[in-house]
Parts: sequence; structure tokens; C-alpha cells
Amino acid sequence: MRTDHMGKITGFLDFERVDETYEPKEHRKKHYREFIPRLTDEQAKIQGARCMDCGIPFCMSGCPVNNIIPDWNDLVYRQEWKAAIETLHSTNNFPEFTGRICPAPCEEACVLRINEDAVGIKSIEHAIIDKAWEEGWVSPQPPLQTTGRKIAVVGSGPAGLACAQQLARVGHAVSVFEKNDRIGGLLRYGIPDFKMEKWLIDRRMEQMAAEGVSFRAGVRVGAERSAKGVPDWAAETISADALRAGFDAVVLAIGAEHPRDLPVPGRELDGVHFAMEYLPLQNKRVAGDKDVPGLWATDKHVVIIGGGDTGSDCVGTSNRHGAKSITQFELLPMPPDVDSNPVWPYWPVRLRTSSSHEEGVDRDWSIATKEFLGEGGKVKALKAVRLEWKDGKMSEMPGTEFTIPADLVLLAMGFVSPVQSVLDAFGIEKDARGNALATTDGAGSYTTSVPGLFAAGDVRRGQSLVVWAIREGRQCARAVDEFLMGSSELPR
Ligand SMILES: Cc1cc2nc3c(=O)[nH]c(=O)nc-3n(C[C@H](O)[C@H](O)[C@H](O)COP(=O)(O)OP(=O)(O)OC[C@H]3O[C@@H](n4cnc5c(N)ncnc54)[C@H](O)[C@@H]3O)c2cc1C
Ligand code: SF4
Repeated sequence: MRTDHMGKITGFLDFERVDETYEPKEHRKKHYREFIPRLTDEQAKIQGARCMDCGIPFCMSGCPVNNIIPDWNDLVYRQEWKAAIETLHSTNNFPEFTGRICPAPCEEACVLRINEDAVGIKSIEHAIIDKAWEEGWVSPQPPLQTTGRKIAVVGSGPAGLACAQQLARVGHAVSVFEKNDRIGGLLRYGIPDFKMEKWLIDRRMEQMAAEGVSFRAGVRVGAERSAKGVPDWAAETISADALRAGFDAVVLAIGAEHPRDLPVPGRELDGVHFAMEYLPLQNKRVAGDKDVPGLWATDKHVVIIGGGDTGSDCVGTSNRHGAKSITQFELLPMPPDVDSNPVWPYWPVRLRTSSSHEEGVDRDWSIATKEFLGEGGKVKALKAVRLEWKDGKMSEMPGTEFTIPADLVLLAMGFVSPVQSVLDAFGIEKDARGNALATTDGAGSYTTSVPGLFAAGDVRRGQSLVVWAIREGRQCARAVDEFLMGSSELPR
């Protein structure tokens, strides 16, 4: 890291935080494109100047890939954009993904946040990488020599892609297997296009192909079809044994796709769906696919169960479909709506309102669903009850039962674990939650109980964030390289 001062010494006193501006909600609700243009060079410069060189950059430890944030803030302040992207790429393979959809734990850890608005770190990251692509500074980095070792990466989400890119750059022959018909994991099928447009993934794939990565979409590894609620458009299968026989090492980066169900009366009714039966269809429509099954929210009373990110994405998509009403229920109590926060530099529990929420939804907390009510096999209403929370325990409040109309219910209550049959096909040990068992530090990190078989991303840590998946993919690549070559130049 640089030791001279970062940014403008008095920048945080002179300038206020400028957030990226959003297209007005009435406009953006009519389309599926991104609606947050990046900062101009001048705005980014001022934002970079707000970084106050606090000495111990808590933001860097708040960032799961440990982005060297003060350095690139300073470089942007000086308008040295090319050096800024080099610094950013040294820790993050895909800043265009995180610069758009990371919840930015770095900003919660920013020292300015103690009594001011944090530096707009994520918006600066967004500006650096988008400018770098525009200027043609992002090019393939093919290896200088090849090793002759073959590696299979199973799963093409951010963990698999980061791992594959790192391994290809040190000369290994990497093949990425993906059961769905397109590469990208939840970046492709899950996260709506209005949060992240998908040509961004295609552009990275082109770079990676030029670095030697080969992509095998539509191939399911481990022969069993995935369970209900798990997108699976495989046209071929390959068994775990056949895959292992063809490669020197295998990385499992299959995510944590098994959705949490809600086994209350009426669950079997038509119109009650897992969020991941709904969201990917819209991604496919935006991609121009024909014959996409007709699951729409148009003119429906939509009830979304689960107050997290996935639920918020269902809100945004339902609004774009033209739903009649949208309600989102959460089991937990409503978090406090506070900005100053004693838990700095950690991630605070506070009410978060996403851009999708701003577009229109009724949100309610401490609600438990009791039953889905139907007519002619189709869901028509939802019966629920209010909860009281005391010392972390919930109880139903007598006399608070209510019924609301519901023609489409989307279950967005999180994910239990990876699909177990795939882990079983490889015969690896699991932790108590059913994730692939592997540590993240010391000798043998990211190694499963089966030698030569590695695990990274949500499959190992449970459903998490894109930036954590990138971190694990990068670190796992180093572990694989060490396993195959005895030592590695890749970053830890
Ligand atoms: C709707 C939704 C919205 C989200 N929004 C955000 C967000 O805004 N910001 C954020 O940081 N995080 C978000 N997340 C979380 C984030 O997407 C994940 O943590 C991240 O994608 C995990 O990366 P991964 O590479 O481990 O797994 P995944 O992205 O899940 O990728 C795993 C891939 O493996 C493939 N696969 C599985 N089994 C097999 C098999 N047997 N054979 C071949 N391929 C297989 C799957 O099809 C999938 O493509 C969101 C999650 C969801 C569900
Ligand atoms: S990746 Fe996320 S946590 Fe890291 S600097 Fe970017 S926005 Fe912040």
C-alpha cells in the first residue's frame, strides 16, 4: 500500500457524499435495464477526495476480498484511473459485479461513518471498472506457459468463475461445467437484469475464454435431476466418477440452491412457488428466449414471504410485471430505522429499503403464515397471524389472525443447503448444516474430505454474497494450484 497521504486531507470536511442517482421509479418500473448510471469522473474525484486516510483502513477488513480501497480512492482523486483499475483488479476479479450488487459492508466499516456519511466506496468501484472497460484497459491475461494439468470447476457462479480465471492465468487447463443453459450462476439466473445486466457476464466470459477457460453449459454433474425450486436446464449429465477420472482436480462451486419450504396447509395449490421458480424465468425472457413458461405477476395480488434480498428482487420483478398489489411478509420483527450505530465497524442490523421496495410494496414484519386458501386448486388467499417476539422467542398473538387476497405467493425464505445429492455423488463429508466440509485457512484449505476435490462459495459457507463467493473462488484457486504444483504464486 502507498504510504503518502490518501485523497485530499480535508476532503471529508469540504465535500459531502454524492450518491449515484437513480432513474425515477415511475420510469424504471417500465423496463428491466439497469437504472443507476455511474458517477462522472468529476463526481468520482470528489468522492475519492472524501477518503480521509484514517490510518487503519477498516473498510479493507470490512470488504471480503480486502479491496485496497484507500489506494484507489486516492488514485481516482488524482484521476489516475488506469492505476486505479490495476489496484482494484489485484484483489477482485469482477468489480463490475460487486460495484453494482454488493451490499457494501466496506461502507459500514468506513471510519467516516462514525459521525458522518461513509465514503461512497461502491460507487467509486463502479466508476473505475466501467471506465476501464470503456477505455479498453481490461484485456485477457493468458498464461506465459501451460502446466498440462486439467481442472474441472463445477458451477459457474461468482465462486466458480473467479476460481477458473485464477487457475487459467497460471497455466492450468480449466473447464467450467454448468447445469443451466447459460454461464453465471445466480448472477445470471436469480439476480434481476435491472440490478445487473447480463452482457456484463458475457464480456467476462469472452475474456476468460481468451485466457484458456472452456465453458460447458447445459451439463449436470452427478446424475440426479435437481429438486423442485432449483433451476435446472441441463441437456446432458456426467457422473461424479467420470468427471473425476478426466481431471487432475475438481472444484465444487455449486452454490446453496436447496430452498426453504413452508409446509403449511394449501402449500400444494397452484400459484404457490419458490422465488427461484419465478425470477429466472424473467431473466430468460429478457435474454430473448422463446417458450419461457408463463409464470407472471400481472394483475395479481402477489404475496412474498421472506424479507431478504431474494424477496426484494421478487418485489421489483412483480412491479415490472404490473401486479395488482404486492405485500412482503417477514417472520422477524422490524429492524430499527437508525443511522448512527454503536456496532461500527461491523454490519449493523437496521431497516434496509432497497430500490425495489421504493418502487412500491406493503411490507410487514412479525408475521407467520398459517395456511394458503384456494378455489378450484388455485391459491386465492393467505391466512396469517401476528407474532410477538420476546428474548428471541416468538409466540402468536391471540386474536390477530387475518386473511389477505393472494393469486401468486412467492416463497423467499432463504436456502437451506447445497443440493445434497451432488455432494453425496462425490462422497464428501458435510458440516452440520449440510454444506461441503472444508476449512478456509492453513494447510488443506478448501479441500474436502476427498483428496483432489475442493469446495468454494455458497456450497461451503451457505447462501451468502457475491463478494464472498469471489473471495472463496480466488483463495480456492491458490489451494488447487498448491495441490497440483507444490507451491503457488497466486494470492492468498
Ligand atoms: C435472488 C437472489 C438475489 C441475490 N442478490 C444478491 C445481491 O444483490 N448481492 C449479493 O452480493 N448477493 C446476492 N445474492 C447471493 C449471491 O447471488 C450468492 O451468494 C452467490 O451467487 C454465490 O455464488 P456461488 O458461485 O457460490 O454459487 P451460485 O451463484 O449459486 O452458482 C452455482 C452454480 O452451480 C450450478 N450447479 C449446481 N449444481 C450443479 C451440478 N450438479 N452440475 C453443474 N452445475 C451445477 C448452478 O446451476 C449455479 O449456476 C442473491 C441470491 C439470490 C438467490
Ligand atoms: S466488493 Fe463490496 S465490500 Fe468490497 S469494496 Fe466493493 S462494495 Fe465494498
